[in-house]
Amino acid sequence: MNPFRSLADYVTLQRRFYGYTWENIHQHQWRAVEALLAVVREKSPFYQDRYRDREVRSLAEFAQLPTIHKAAMMENFDRLNTAGLKKDELVTYAVEKELARDYLGYYAGEYVVGLSSGTSGAKGIYVTPKSLTERLPAVFLARGGIPLRLLPFRILFLLRVFSQGFADIHAPLISLTYLSTMTDPTEIVERMNADRINVLMAPPSLLRVLLPHIGKIRVTPKRVVSYADVLEREEKERLQRAFGCPVVEIYQASEGPIGSACRRGTLHLNEDLVYVELFDEGGDPVTEPGETARRMIVTNLLNTVQPLIRYEMNDLVELGGPCPCGSRFRTIAKVIGRNDDVFVFRTPDGTLRPVFPDLISRWIITSSDAIREYRVEQHGADDLDVIVETTGEGDQAAVEAALVQRFRTELSAFGIAAPVRVRFEKIPLPPDNRKFKRFVREDAATSAR
Ligand SMILES: [Zn+2]
Repeated sequence: MNPFRSLADYVTLQRRFYGYTWENIHQHQWRAVEALLAVVREKSPFYQDRYRDREVRSLAEFAQLPTIHKAAMMENFDRLNTAGLKKDELVTYAVEKELARDYLGYYAGEYVVGLSSGTSGAKGIYVTPKSLTERLPAVFLARGGIPLRLLPFRILFLLRVFSQGFADIHAPLISLTYLSTMTDPTEIVERMNADRINVLMAPPSLLRVLLPHIGKIRVTPKRVVSYADVLEREEKERLQRAFGCPVVEIYQASEGPIGSACRRGTLHLNEDLVYVELFDEGGDPVTEPGETARRMIVTNLLNTVQPLIRYEMNDLVELGGPCPCGSRFRTIAKVIGRNDDVFVFRTPDGTLRPVFPDLISRWIITSSDAIREYRVEQHGADDLDVIVETTGEGDQAAVEAALVQRFRTELSAFGIAAPVRVRFEKIPLPPDNRKFKRFVREDAATSAR
C-alpha cells in the first residue's frame, strides 16, 4: 500500500469526522448515493430492473427504493455485481482457500473474496476490490479511537482474513504488523514484545484467548481495539482491567465499515462510508437517543463492485446521544446483536417470550471470572444449552452451579422456567474467516408451535 495515500486518507477521514456539520454529512451522503446509483444503472442488470422508472432526486426518494436481503443478494449475485463475477466460481474459490487455510492472494488478481455464514446458516459472499482493500487500514487508523498522541503507532492487527491488501507497513511514524487470529497466543505475545506494540487490534474472542498470557506482555499497550464481534460492556471492563488500558470497539461487518470509535471511545456510525437508515417496529425513523432500531438498512457508499444498496442488516442497534468529542456523526449506544440470535422461550402459560443475546452474554460473563469462552445453543423453546470453556482446570462444579442459579433467577424474572444445561468443552476459534458464532438458535419459535 502507498503510505502517502494512506496519510491523505487519514487526514480526510479525520477532517470529515470532526469537521462535518449535519448538513455536510447529508450533502456528502447524497452525492455518494447519486454516484452509486449512476454506476448500478449502467452496470448492474439486477438494479437496472429494480430501479427502472424510479427517479431518485433526494435521500427521501432514495428511501422509497426497495430494500434487499442477503438471500436476494446471493440469489441474484451474478446480475448484481458490476464486474461480471460468477457466484459459483467465487464460492468454490473461497471454500478451497478456506480448506487450505490460504488467505493470501486476490481472486483474478483483483478481488478479495470473503465468505460469511450468517446465524441462519445462509452463506454470504462479499467481494471487495483490491483498490478499496488497500485503503481500509487508513479507515481503521483514522477511525479506530487511536489518538495521535500515541505516535509513533506500533500496531499489531490480528486478522481473521488475510489478504495481500494488508501488507505490513514500516514507516517512521507508523508500523503495522499483521498476524492471523489463528497464531499461537505465545507467538502473539512474543511479537508484541519484540515490536513494542502500543496498539492491539483484535476480535474479542482472540482477546479472551490472550487473557491467560497477559502476564508475559512486557510493553503494556496504550489501546486495544476490538472489532468484528459484539463487545459487551462487562467484558470491555474486564479486558480493560486485564490489559491495563482503554478498550475501544469498532463495528466492522461484511457489509462495510459501519461504525468506528472516536477519540473518546464512543462508537459512531461512519456516515461518510456507509449510509445507515434506522427504523422502529412501526417503520418510523429512529432519531431519539436510547431508542432501539428494529430495522437497520445499510448502503455501502464505497463498494461499486458488489453494490449493497438499501441492504437489510439483521443487527439491532440502540441509538446513542450527541458525543462530547464534537463529531456530528450519529452514535451507537449498543450493538444488540443479530436479530436472528434473539432466543425465544415458552412461558408456563404457553406464550413465547424473546430474550436478547446481550442479556444472556452478560449473565454468563458475570457469573464467574473463570469463564474464558462460551457458546449458547437453543434447540427448542423449552430449554437452553450453555457450553463453557474455563481458563484453568478450575472448579467446574462451582461454575456450573453459578450459571444454573443465575439463569434460573434471571429467566424467572421474565416468567420463564426453562432449564439450562451447562457443559464444559474446549471452544476453538473458527478455523476460517467466518464470524465466531457464539449464539446458535435452531428456529425455536417454529419448533414451539
Ligand atoms: Zn465521539
